Amino acid sequence: MNLFIDQNSQYTSRSQIARVMTEGWAATNLYCPNCGHHALTQYEANRPVADFFCSICRDDFELKSSSRAFGRKMANGAYAAKMQKLVSDTTPNLVLLRYDLSRRQVRDLTCVPRRFFVHSIIEARKPLAETARRRGWVGSNILLHLVPKVGRIDLVRNGEVMDRRAVLERWRKTAFLERNTGTARGWLVDVMICIENLEKETFSLNDIYECEDRLEQLYPGNQHVRAKIRQQLQVLRDNGYLVFLGNGEYRRNT
Ligand SMILES: [Zn+2]
Repeated sequence: MNLFIDQNSQYTSRSQIARVMTEGWAATNLYCPNCGHHALTQYEANRPVADFFCSICRDDFELKSSSRAFGRKMANGAYAAKMQKLVSDTTPNLVLLRYDLSRRQVRDLTCVPRRFFVHSIIEARKPLAETARRRGWVGSNILLHLVPKVGRIDLVRNGEVMDRRAVLERWRKTAFLERNTGTARGWLVDVMICIENLEKETFSLNDIYECEDRLEQLYPGNQHVRAKIRQQLQVLRDNGYLVFLGNGEYRRNT
């Protein structure tokens, strides 16, 4: 992976130049973090599906580029379309690219596997005002700060390329989430978010029960939130995300 952005562009606006150059960089340098294939293929322009796909494993990737660090929220297209993709399980993986145009270099590159995009991570924005051209249109935000750390996989960090095998291993570590869809996957990721928010290496069942209110709000129809939490902990244990230490104590294995 060569971090130098050497694409030229005939555009004059800075944002268009940046988009064309970073897309060009990705088409040449990005590998598939899912299966390890050496390159991704660019979709034709203006395909609503995604920006790139892997010709081997067929995973889709959406590229977002910025010269600034990505904040807590990222605007991400129409809310209804986003929700539809969750239902049909066709959300693409997300690639966040931070560049430095003066150095023409990629500084940070982080992938978020699609398995982490559950309902609670997508937020509806306020409908556009009556005066807007697309009045009433509802966009979405991705709540990046909620994505568990295991779901933020750095391929480049501060101008340094990460080891590819380590990237693939990190990617595989949470692949079990894709064996579940819809609400089942939502529960697993939401309990992971609760665990990460504790910011503790080891924690007790009572610690995690403190998330009960949040989970009740997210799943208003569920009358057995504590039982659901315990069920998720078992699945997370069985898949290596947690270790049970006994006496209601747990340790994160990440
Ligand atoms: Zn692949």
